[in-house]
Amino acid sequence: MKQDAGLYVHIPFCDHKCIYCDFYSIIKDDNKTIYLKNLLNEINHFSSIYSTFHQFKTIYFGGGTPSLMEPEYLGSIISHLKSKFQISEDAEITMETNPGTVSFDKLKRFREQGINRISIGIQSFDKKDLKFLTRIHTGEAAVQTVHDAYEAGFRDISIDLIFNLPGQTKRKWKKNLEIATSLPVTHISAYSLILEKGTILNKMVLKGEVEMQDVEIDSQLYEITMDFLAEKGFEHYEVSNYCKPGYECKHNQIYWDCLNYLSFGTSAHSYMDGKRWWNFSALTIYNTAVMNKDYAIAGSEELTQHDLYEEYIMLGLRSRGLKFKRGEKNPGLLGIGSEAWYMERKQIINQLVAAGKMVIDGDWLKLTRDGFLVCDEIVERLL
Ligand code: SF4
Repeated sequence: MKQDAGLYVHIPFCDHKCIYCDFYSIIKDDNKTIYLKNLLNEINHFSSIYSTFHQFKTIYFGGGTPSLMEPEYLGSIISHLKSKFQISEDAEITMETNPGTVSFDKLKRFREQGINRISIGIQSFDKKDLKFLTRIHTGEAAVQTVHDAYEAGFRDISIDLIFNLPGQTKRKWKKNLEIATSLPVTHISAYSLILEKGTILNKMVLKGEVEMQDVEIDSQLYEITMDFLAEKGFEHYEVSNYCKPGYECKHNQIYWDCLNYLSFGTSAHSYMDGKRWWNFSALTIYNTAVMNKDYAIAGSEELTQHDLYEEYIMLGLRSRGLKFKRGEKNPGLLGIGSEAWYMERKQIINQLVAAGKMVIDGDWLKLTRDGFLVCDEIVERLL
Protein backbone atom coordinates (compact mmCIF):
# COMPACT_ATOMS: atom_id res chain seq x y z
CA MET A 1 0.00 0.00 0.00
CA LYS A 2 1.20 3.50 -0.82
CA GLN A 3 2.05 5.83 2.05
CA ASP A 4 0.30 9.20 2.39
CA ALA A 5 2.66 12.14 1.94
CA GLY A 6 2.78 15.86 1.15
CA LEU A 7 4.66 18.21 -1.20
CA TYR A 8 5.93 21.69 -0.32
CA VAL A 9 7.33 24.34 -2.69
CA HIS A 10 9.11 27.42 -1.32
CA ILE A 11 8.79 30.70 -3.21
CA PRO A 12 11.30 33.03 -1.53
CA PHE A 13 10.29 36.37 -3.07
CA CYS A 14 8.69 39.15 -1.00
CA ASP A 15 8.01 42.80 -1.77
CA HIS A 16 9.55 43.96 1.53
CA LYS A 17 10.96 42.50 4.77
CA CYS A 18 8.72 42.49 7.88
CA ILE A 19 10.47 43.26 11.17
CA TYR A 20 9.47 40.05 12.96
CA CYS A 21 10.15 37.61 10.09
CA ASP A 22 12.92 35.01 10.22
CA PHE A 23 11.90 33.12 7.06
CA TYR A 24 14.28 33.16 4.15
CA SER A 25 12.92 35.75 1.75
CA ILE A 26 14.41 38.16 -0.74
CA ILE A 27 13.05 41.39 -2.09
CA LYS A 28 14.20 41.25 -5.73
CA ASP A 29 12.50 38.75 -8.01
CA ASP A 30 14.69 39.11 -11.12
CA ASN A 31 15.90 35.54 -10.57
CA LYS A 32 12.47 34.01 -10.79
CA THR A 33 12.90 32.46 -14.26
CA ILE A 34 16.09 30.62 -13.36
CA TYR A 35 14.51 29.68 -10.01
CA LEU A 36 11.59 28.01 -11.79
CA LYS A 37 13.94 26.03 -14.01
CA ASN A 38 15.86 24.83 -10.95
CA LEU A 39 12.69 23.94 -9.03
CA LEU A 40 11.57 21.74 -11.93
CA ASN A 41 14.98 20.03 -12.08
CA GLU A 42 14.95 19.44 -8.34
CA ILE A 43 11.46 17.93 -8.64
CA ASN A 44 12.72 15.61 -11.43
CA HIS A 45 15.60 14.47 -9.25
CA PHE A 46 13.50 13.51 -6.22
CA SER A 47 10.61 12.04 -8.23
CA SER A 48 13.00 9.45 -9.63
CA ILE A 49 13.66 8.31 -6.04
CA TYR A 50 10.35 8.77 -4.25
CA SER A 51 7.44 8.65 -6.70
CA THR A 52 6.71 4.91 -6.51
CA PHE A 53 5.66 4.27 -2.93
CA HIS A 54 3.81 7.45 -2.06
CA GLN A 55 0.40 8.92 -2.66
CA PHE A 56 0.70 12.69 -2.32
CA LYS A 57 -2.35 14.26 -0.73
CA THR A 58 -1.29 17.90 -0.59
CA ILE A 59 0.75 20.58 -2.35
CA TYR A 60 1.63 23.70 -0.37
CA PHE A 61 3.17 26.89 -1.81
CA GLY A 62 4.78 28.78 1.07
CA GLY A 63 7.18 31.66 1.25
CA GLY A 64 8.01 34.38 0.92
CA THR A 65 4.93 35.54 -0.91
CA PRO A 66 3.99 33.01 -3.62
CA SER A 67 1.13 35.20 -4.84
CA LEU A 68 3.70 37.71 -6.18
CA MET A 69 4.33 35.19 -8.98
CA GLU A 70 2.13 35.01 -12.05
CA PRO A 71 -0.59 32.33 -11.64
CA GLU A 72 0.84 30.46 -14.64
CA TYR A 73 4.20 30.26 -12.81
CA LEU A 74 2.61 28.24 -9.98
CA GLY A 75 0.41 26.45 -12.52
CA SER A 76 3.45 25.15 -14.37
CA ILE A 77 4.88 23.79 -11.07
CA ILE A 78 1.57 22.06 -10.26
CA SER A 79 1.45 20.46 -13.74
CA HIS A 80 5.04 19.31 -13.39
CA LEU A 81 4.42 17.81 -9.93
CA LYS A 82 1.35 16.02 -11.29
CA SER A 83 3.37 14.57 -14.16
CA LYS A 84 6.07 13.27 -11.80
CA PHE A 85 4.23 12.11 -8.66
CA GLN A 86 1.02 10.27 -7.84
CA ILE A 87 -1.14 13.11 -6.58
CA SER A 88 -4.67 12.50 -5.30
CA GLU A 89 -7.51 13.79 -7.48
CA ASP A 90 -8.88 15.76 -4.53
CA ALA A 91 -5.48 16.98 -3.30
CA GLU A 92 -5.47 20.07 -1.11
CA ILE A 93 -3.43 22.71 -2.98
CA THR A 94 -2.66 25.74 -0.81
CA MET A 95 -1.04 29.05 -1.65
CA GLU A 96 0.09 31.61 0.91
CA THR A 97 -0.68 35.20 0.02
CA ASN A 98 -0.64 38.65 1.57
CA PRO A 99 -3.28 41.36 1.30
CA GLY A 100 -2.16 44.10 -1.02
CA THR A 101 -0.32 41.70 -3.35
CA VAL A 102 -3.29 40.19 -5.22
CA SER A 103 -6.28 41.57 -7.08
CA PHE A 104 -9.61 39.81 -7.56
CA ASP A 105 -8.64 38.94 -11.16
CA LYS A 106 -5.31 37.47 -10.10
CA LEU A 107 -6.99 35.38 -7.39
CA LYS A 108 -9.42 34.05 -9.99
CA ARG A 109 -6.49 33.05 -12.19
CA PHE A 110 -4.80 31.27 -9.27
CA ARG A 111 -8.04 29.36 -8.71
CA GLU A 112 -8.10 28.41 -12.41
CA GLN A 113 -4.58 26.97 -12.05
CA GLY A 114 -5.92 24.43 -9.54
CA ILE A 115 -5.13 26.15 -6.23
CA ASN A 116 -8.09 25.31 -3.99
CA ARG A 117 -7.04 26.64 -0.58
CA ILE A 118 -5.66 30.04 0.28
CA SER A 119 -3.83 31.15 3.39
CA ILE A 120 -3.85 34.93 3.86
CA GLY A 121 -1.23 36.60 6.09
CA ILE A 122 -3.42 39.26 7.66
CA GLN A 123 -1.82 39.34 11.17
CA SER A 124 -4.10 42.17 12.37
CA PHE A 125 -6.88 44.44 11.13
CA ASP A 126 -5.68 47.29 13.35
CA LYS A 127 -3.85 50.20 11.77
CA LYS A 128 -1.30 50.64 14.59
CA ASP A 129 -0.56 46.90 14.80
CA LEU A 130 0.01 46.71 11.04
CA LYS A 131 2.32 49.72 11.14
CA PHE A 132 4.29 48.16 14.01
CA LEU A 133 4.61 44.85 12.11
CA THR A 134 5.69 46.79 8.98
CA ARG A 135 2.97 45.13 6.92
CA ILE A 136 2.11 46.93 3.69
CA HIS A 137 -1.67 46.45 3.87
CA THR A 138 -4.50 48.15 5.74
CA GLY A 139 -7.27 46.43 7.70
CA GLU A 140 -9.72 47.36 4.91
CA ALA A 141 -7.46 45.77 2.27
CA ALA A 142 -7.29 42.58 4.38
CA VAL A 143 -11.09 42.36 4.57
CA GLN A 144 -11.31 43.02 0.82
CA THR A 145 -8.78 40.24 0.03
CA VAL A 146 -10.88 37.69 1.95
CA HIS A 147 -14.03 38.74 0.08
CA ASP A 148 -12.15 38.74 -3.24
CA ALA A 149 -10.87 35.22 -2.56
CA TYR A 150 -14.39 34.02 -1.81
CA GLU A 151 -15.79 35.69 -4.94
CA ALA A 152 -12.92 34.17 -6.96
CA GLY A 153 -14.16 30.71 -5.98
CA PHE A 154 -12.07 29.81 -2.91
CA ARG A 155 -14.19 27.95 -0.36
CA ASP A 156 -11.32 27.00 1.95
CA ILE A 157 -9.88 30.29 3.22
CA SER A 158 -7.43 30.47 6.08
CA ILE A 159 -6.11 33.63 7.71
CA ASP A 160 -3.10 34.17 9.98
CA LEU A 161 -3.33 36.49 12.98
CA ILE A 162 -0.70 37.47 15.57
CA PHE A 163 -1.46 38.32 19.19
CA ASN A 164 0.47 39.71 22.15
CA LEU A 165 1.87 42.60 20.12
CA PRO A 166 3.41 45.38 22.22
CA GLY A 167 0.60 47.47 23.72
CA GLN A 168 -2.14 45.14 22.47
CA THR A 169 -5.08 45.15 24.89
CA LYS A 170 -7.67 42.40 25.32
CA ARG A 171 -10.27 44.69 23.76
CA LYS A 172 -8.14 45.33 20.68
CA TRP A 173 -7.37 41.63 20.20
CA LYS A 174 -11.03 40.70 20.59
CA LYS A 175 -11.92 43.24 17.91
CA ASN A 176 -9.54 41.42 15.54
CA LEU A 177 -11.27 38.12 16.29
CA GLU A 178 -14.70 39.71 15.77
CA ILE A 179 -13.71 41.00 12.34
CA ALA A 180 -12.06 37.67 11.41
CA THR A 181 -15.13 35.61 12.30
CA SER A 182 -17.47 37.99 10.43
CA LEU A 183 -15.66 37.00 7.21
CA PRO A 184 -16.15 33.84 5.07
CA VAL A 185 -13.09 32.11 6.53
CA THR A 186 -12.92 28.39 7.34
CA HIS A 187 -9.61 28.37 9.20
CA ILE A 188 -7.72 30.70 11.55
CA SER A 189 -4.09 30.36 12.65
CA ALA A 190 -3.48 32.61 15.67
CA TYR A 191 0.13 32.80 16.85
CA SER A 192 1.65 34.65 19.74
CA LEU A 193 4.37 37.09 18.64
CA ILE A 194 7.68 35.31 19.03
CA LEU A 195 11.00 37.08 19.19
CA GLU A 196 13.27 35.25 16.74
CA LYS A 197 17.02 35.77 16.75
CA GLY A 198 18.38 37.75 13.82
CA THR A 199 15.14 39.64 13.13
CA ILE A 200 14.90 43.44 13.05
CA LEU A 201 12.42 43.20 15.94
CA ASN A 202 14.91 41.32 18.07
CA LYS A 203 17.47 44.08 17.56
CA MET A 204 14.87 46.72 18.46
CA VAL A 205 14.06 44.88 21.70
CA LEU A 206 17.73 44.51 22.57
CA LYS A 207 18.25 48.24 22.02
CA GLY A 208 15.26 49.01 24.28
CA GLU A 209 13.22 50.54 21.44
CA VAL A 210 10.39 48.02 21.86
CA GLU A 211 9.10 46.32 24.98
CA MET A 212 7.44 42.91 24.63
CA GLN A 213 4.36 42.10 26.72
CA ASP A 214 4.73 39.56 29.50
CA VAL A 215 3.67 35.91 29.52
CA GLU A 216 0.68 36.57 31.76
CA ILE A 217 -0.93 38.82 29.13
CA ASP A 218 0.04 36.29 26.47
CA SER A 219 -1.91 33.56 28.34
CA GLN A 220 -4.92 35.81 28.79
CA LEU A 221 -5.03 36.65 25.08
CA TYR A 222 -4.67 32.95 24.26
CA GLU A 223 -7.61 32.11 26.53
CA ILE A 224 -9.72 34.81 24.87
CA THR A 225 -8.82 33.32 21.47
CA MET A 226 -9.79 29.76 22.45
CA ASP A 227 -13.09 30.81 24.05
CA PHE A 228 -14.14 33.31 21.41
CA LEU A 229 -13.42 31.03 18.46
CA ALA A 230 -15.16 28.07 20.15
CA GLU A 231 -18.28 30.27 20.57
CA LYS A 232 -18.13 31.05 16.85
CA GLY A 233 -18.04 27.36 15.86
CA PHE A 234 -14.31 26.95 15.26
CA GLU A 235 -12.72 23.70 16.48
CA HIS A 236 -9.38 24.06 18.26
CA TYR A 237 -7.51 21.26 16.51
CA GLU A 238 -3.91 22.30 17.14
CA VAL A 239 -2.28 24.59 19.69
CA SER A 240 -2.45 27.61 17.33
CA ASN A 241 -5.00 26.47 14.76
CA TYR A 242 -8.80 26.59 14.62
CA CYS A 243 -11.18 25.54 11.87
CA LYS A 244 -14.79 25.11 10.91
CA PRO A 245 -15.68 21.36 11.03
CA GLY A 246 -13.95 19.48 8.21
CA TYR A 247 -11.55 22.31 7.30
CA GLU A 248 -8.37 21.20 9.07
CA CYS A 249 -5.24 22.00 7.06
CA LYS A 250 -4.41 18.58 5.57
CA HIS A 251 -0.86 19.63 4.73
CA ASN A 252 0.05 20.68 8.27
CA GLN A 253 -1.64 17.55 9.58
CA ILE A 254 0.93 15.54 7.58
CA TYR A 255 3.71 17.30 9.56
CA TRP A 256 1.92 16.78 12.88
CA ASP A 257 1.25 13.09 12.15
CA CYS A 258 4.99 12.61 11.41
CA LEU A 259 4.21 11.45 7.86
CA ASN A 260 6.56 11.91 4.91
CA TYR A 261 6.91 15.14 2.95
CA LEU A 262 9.15 16.30 0.14
CA SER A 263 10.01 19.98 -0.19
CA PHE A 264 11.59 21.97 -2.98
CA GLY A 265 13.28 25.35 -3.19
CA THR A 266 15.47 27.51 -0.98
CA SER A 267 15.57 26.56 2.73
CA ALA A 268 13.00 23.79 2.16
CA HIS A 269 13.01 20.92 4.68
CA SER A 270 12.06 17.36 3.73
CA TYR A 271 11.35 14.28 5.81
CA MET A 272 11.22 10.79 4.31
CA ASP A 273 11.32 7.47 6.15
CA GLY A 274 13.18 8.68 9.24
CA LYS A 275 15.61 10.94 7.37
CA ARG A 276 15.40 14.72 7.37
CA TRP A 277 17.30 17.08 5.07
CA TRP A 278 17.26 20.77 4.29
CA ASN A 279 18.26 22.92 1.35
CA PHE A 280 20.58 25.91 1.13
CA SER A 281 18.78 29.13 2.05
CA ALA A 282 20.60 31.63 -0.14
CA LEU A 283 19.12 31.82 -3.63
CA THR A 284 22.42 32.03 -5.49
CA ILE A 285 23.85 29.00 -3.64
CA TYR A 286 20.64 27.05 -4.22
CA ASN A 287 20.67 27.91 -7.94
CA THR A 288 24.30 26.92 -8.38
CA ALA A 289 23.86 23.65 -6.48
CA VAL A 290 20.83 22.56 -8.52
CA MET A 291 22.53 23.52 -11.78
CA ASN A 292 25.52 21.34 -10.85
CA LYS A 293 23.86 18.39 -9.10
CA ASP A 294 20.04 18.60 -9.57
CA TYR A 295 19.60 19.02 -5.80
CA ALA A 296 20.69 21.57 -3.17
CA ILE A 297 20.94 19.71 0.14
CA ALA A 298 22.82 21.75 2.76
CA GLY A 299 22.53 19.22 5.60
CA SER A 300 20.75 16.07 6.74
CA GLU A 301 20.16 13.88 9.77
CA GLU A 302 18.89 10.38 10.47
CA LEU A 303 16.34 10.46 13.27
CA THR A 304 16.91 7.87 15.97
CA GLN A 305 14.02 5.92 17.50
CA HIS A 306 14.34 8.22 20.50
CA ASP A 307 14.06 11.37 18.30
CA LEU A 308 11.01 9.95 16.52
CA TYR A 309 9.41 9.03 19.82
CA GLU A 310 9.85 12.58 21.17
CA GLU A 311 8.55 14.19 17.97
CA TYR A 312 5.53 11.91 17.83
CA ILE A 313 4.57 12.73 21.43
CA MET A 314 5.18 16.46 21.06
CA LEU A 315 3.47 16.93 17.69
CA GLY A 316 0.63 14.55 18.60
CA LEU A 317 -0.19 16.30 21.86
CA ARG A 318 -0.10 19.69 20.16
CA SER A 319 -2.69 18.50 17.63
CA ARG A 320 -5.09 15.55 17.46
CA GLY A 321 -3.66 13.69 20.48
CA LEU A 322 -2.02 10.31 21.00
CA LYS A 323 -3.61 7.10 19.78
CA PHE A 324 -4.33 5.21 22.93
CA LYS A 325 -5.97 1.86 23.56
CA ARG A 326 -6.07 0.26 26.99
CA GLY A 327 -5.25 -3.42 26.88
CA GLU A 328 -3.52 -3.30 23.47
CA LYS A 329 -0.19 -5.09 23.45
CA ASN A 330 1.58 -3.04 20.79
CA PRO A 331 -0.50 -0.46 18.97
CA GLY A 332 0.79 2.76 17.52
CA LEU A 333 4.20 4.01 16.50
CA LEU A 334 7.09 3.06 18.80
CA GLY A 335 4.74 1.45 21.30
CA ILE A 336 3.14 4.79 22.25
CA GLY A 337 -0.31 4.13 23.60
CA SER A 338 0.38 0.48 24.39
CA GLU A 339 -0.50 -1.01 27.76
CA ALA A 340 3.17 -0.90 28.81
CA TRP A 341 3.50 2.74 27.76
CA TYR A 342 0.33 3.65 29.64
CA MET A 343 1.30 1.77 32.83
CA GLU A 344 4.59 3.68 33.00
CA ARG A 345 2.72 7.00 32.89
CA LYS A 346 -0.54 5.99 34.52
CA GLN A 347 -0.08 8.18 37.56
CA ILE A 348 0.78 11.31 35.56
CA ILE A 349 -2.04 10.76 33.06
CA ASN A 350 -4.59 10.21 35.84
CA GLN A 351 -3.44 13.40 37.57
CA LEU A 352 -3.70 15.40 34.33
CA VAL A 353 -7.16 13.96 33.57
CA ALA A 354 -8.35 14.70 37.13
CA ALA A 355 -7.02 18.26 36.82
CA GLY A 356 -9.00 18.75 33.57
CA LYS A 357 -5.87 19.17 31.46
CA MET A 358 -6.21 15.93 29.48
CA VAL A 359 -9.09 13.78 28.39
CA ILE A 360 -9.41 10.23 27.10
CA ASP A 361 -11.72 10.55 24.09
CA GLY A 362 -12.41 7.13 22.56
CA ASP A 363 -9.03 5.85 21.44
CA TRP A 364 -7.31 9.18 21.87
CA LEU A 365 -5.50 10.85 24.72
CA LYS A 366 -5.90 14.59 24.14
CA LEU A 367 -5.23 17.95 25.68
CA THR A 368 -8.20 20.01 26.83
CA ARG A 369 -8.50 23.81 26.61
CA ASP A 370 -6.71 24.13 29.97
CA GLY A 371 -4.14 21.58 28.82
CA PHE A 372 -3.28 23.66 25.73
CA LEU A 373 -2.38 26.52 28.09
CA VAL A 374 0.41 24.40 29.60
CA CYS A 375 1.13 22.22 26.58
CA ASP A 376 4.94 22.35 26.81
CA GLU A 377 4.88 21.39 30.47
CA ILE A 378 2.63 18.37 29.78
CA VAL A 379 4.82 17.22 26.90
CA GLU A 380 7.83 17.36 29.24
CA ARG A 381 6.03 15.30 31.87
CA LEU A 382 4.93 12.61 29.42
CA LEU A 383 8.37 12.33 27.88
S1 SF4 B 1 5.62 38.93 3.84
FE1 SF4 B 1 5.78 37.06 5.13
S2 SF4 B 1 7.60 35.95 4.39
FE2 SF4 B 1 7.69 38.07 3.54
S3 SF4 B 1 8.95 39.18 5.00
FE3 SF4 B 1 6.83 39.51 5.64
S4 SF4 B 1 6.40 37.84 7.13
FE4 SF4 B 1 8.30 37.30 6.04
